[in-house]
Amino acid sequence: MELWQKQLSQSVVKVKDLPFIPDSEEYRNKLEEVRENYPIRINSYFLEQIKSPDDPLWKQVVPTLAELDDFDSEELITDPLNEEVDMPVPELVHRYPDRVLLMINNQCPIVCRFCTRKRKIGFPGIVTRETLRQGIQYIRDHSEIRDVIMSGGDPLLVPDKELDRILSELRSIPHLEIIRIGTRVPGTLPARITENLCNILKKYHPLYFNIHFNHPAELTPEVEKACSKLADIGIPLGSQTVLLKGVNDDSETMKELMQKLLKNRIKPYYIYQADMTEGTDHLRTSVQKGLEIMKDLMGYTSGMAVPYYVIDAPGGGGKVRLLPNNVVEHTNDEVIITNYEGKVFRYSQSDRGNGSLKGSSQESLKDICRLPV
Ligand SMILES: *Cc1c(COP(=O)(O)O)cnc(C)c1O
Repeated sequence: MELWQKQLSQSVVKVKDLPFIPDSEEYRNKLEEVRENYPIRINSYFLEQIKSPDDPLWKQVVPTLAELDDFDSEELITDPLNEEVDMPVPELVHRYPDRVLLMINNQCPIVCRFCTRKRKIGFPGIVTRETLRQGIQYIRDHSEIRDVIMSGGDPLLVPDKELDRILSELRSIPHLEIIRIGTRVPGTLPARITENLCNILKKYHPLYFNIHFNHPAELTPEVEKACSKLADIGIPLGSQTVLLKGVNDDSETMKELMQKLLKNRIKPYYIYQADMTEGTDHLRTSVQKGLEIMKDLMGYTSGMAVPYYVIDAPGGGGKVRLLPNNVVEHTNDEVIITNYEGKVFRYSQSDRGNGSLKGSSQESLKDICRLPV
C-alpha cells in the first residue's frame, strides 16, 4: 500500500474519533445525527495539520451541530446550482456552450463541511462505470465541447490505472482541446502526487489543474513539494478558494494565501462566494465581505495574485464575476473612475457619441451608469 492509500484508509470517519470536540455524551449523540446526513472524512495527513478547535483547518472538516439548522430553510437547498437539471446524462453538467463538468467519482481526501455537493459526496453508488461511459460518450457525440473539467468528488482519488484509462479515452476525442482537473488532493493529501501519477498525467497535455485551497496553513512543505512536482511536468496550476466565515474572511489571510499560491507557481483563479447549500449556512459570509477583500487585494498586491471573485448564480445561472465598483460615471463623453486608493480620474472618450453607448440618450445613460462609489 502506498503512503497516500494508508493515510486515506486511516481517515477519521466516526464521531468518536473527531479531534477537539466537547466531551459530552449529548453533544456526541447529536453529532451522530449530523454524520448520518453528511458523512465525515479527515485523512490522517490532514488530521495531523489540525492544531486546535478554532483552527481554520478544523472548521473546514469537523462537523458541528449547526449543520442541522438548515433543514427547515426555504432558501437553502441540497442542489442550489440546479446541477441535476443541467445533466443530459448522469453526472455530466453541460451548462456553458463549449465546456462540461464531468464527475468521475464521489470520494474526496477530506469531506469539507461547506461542500456544494454535500448531497452526493461520500455516498456510494452515485458515479459508476456506466455513468462515466455515458459521460465520455456524450462528449464524443458533441463536437461543440472543447473543454472538459474532471470533477467529483476528487478525480485524483481514482486509482492510477483507471485515471490513465479515462484520460486516454478523453484524449482520443478529436474536438476536445483541453482537459482540466479540479482537485483538493495536492493541498490535503500531498503524498498522492507520486512519480507514477506524474508519469501518467504528463502524457495528456494540454492538461490544466485548479487546486482547492482556503487557507495559507494548507501550504505545508509537503504540499509545496507536491505542487512543484505538478508544475515541473508542465501542468499550469490555478487555485480555487471558497470564502468561509472564520476561515479566510479577512483581507490579510486572503492576501497571504494568494501570495503564497503565486510563489508556488499556482495562479489564483477563483474566490467563490459560498453557495446556498443546506447544512453549510454557518460558514457563509456576506457578499459585502467578499467585495471588501477584493478591494484590499486589487492594487495592493501583484495583479497576478488577484483572482476573480464569483457567485455561482443560484438556480444554475453559472458563475458571475463581481468587482468592487470603480466606475463613478460613464457617459458618451467620458468615464470617471477611481483607483485603488480612492482617487478619482477622468478619462475622455475619443469617438464621442460613436461608441457602443450610441443610441441611448445621455440622461438614461446617466441613470444606468452612475453608481454609488
Ligand atoms: C465552473 C463550471 C465550469 C467552468 O467554468 P469556467 O469559468 O470556464 O472555469 C463549467 N461547467 C460548470 C457546470 C461549472 O460549474
